Amino acid sequence: MARYTGPVCKLCRREGEKLFLKGNRCATVKCSFEKKSYAPGQHGVSQRVKISEYGIQLREKQKVRKIYGILEKQFRNYFRNAERLKGVTGENLLKLLESRFDNTIFRLGFAQSRNQARQLILHRHFQVNGKLVDIPSYLLKPGDVITIKEKSRRLIVVHESMQRVRDEDMYPWLTLDKAKMEGSFKDIPDRGDIPVQVQENLIVELYSK
Ligand code: SF4
Repeated sequence: MARYTGPVCKLCRREGEKLFLKGNRCATVKCSFEKKSYAPGQHGVSQRVKISEYGIQLREKQKVRKIYGILEKQFRNYFRNAERLKGVTGENLLKLLESRFDNTIFRLGFAQSRNQARQLILHRHFQVNGKLVDIPSYLLKPGDVITIKEKSRRLIVVHESMQRVRDEDMYPWLTLDKAKMEGSFKDIPDRGDIPVQVQENLIVELYSK
């Protein structure tokens, strides 16, 4: 699956806010958005365009896409699937995105960012319920257990990332046993527990046009 491989800080500048696309590393590196809080490009610094209602909805959708690292076509498929589920479509959309394997590897602290999680998954380091899974978009189900392969347990990137994880900071829908390097996806998260500051209803309005 194709994905964006350019500089991620530009994406934050484009959206006009910090999206923390480098994950935990955003706290330690010099943040480009703090230095240049205007859009990238020749005219970025002088851009003062009044944004339309459509533009606001579009930006909100782009923001969510960039946070989870998903291309347009795939994102639209998530939206269609969210519509088919019971409940509020916008919330369903975020719940589906949160159930992705790469997102969960990042949330559990096995990787410092979703990008890094994607790489580790593609390099076949993780298992779900004892079976190797190398698909970043794989959707986890309640009760799934995630482990790192025996041979991969000494990976420095994983250890560096896990050093930052504190049990008390774990998300309510996940559990982590640091000693066993094992996590579980207990349940589909509640919208209120998902730490993503977006107005998902604007995305629903956008796609309903
Ligand atoms: Fe965005 Fe700043 Fe993190 Fe770069 S360092 S990804 S600009 S939050």
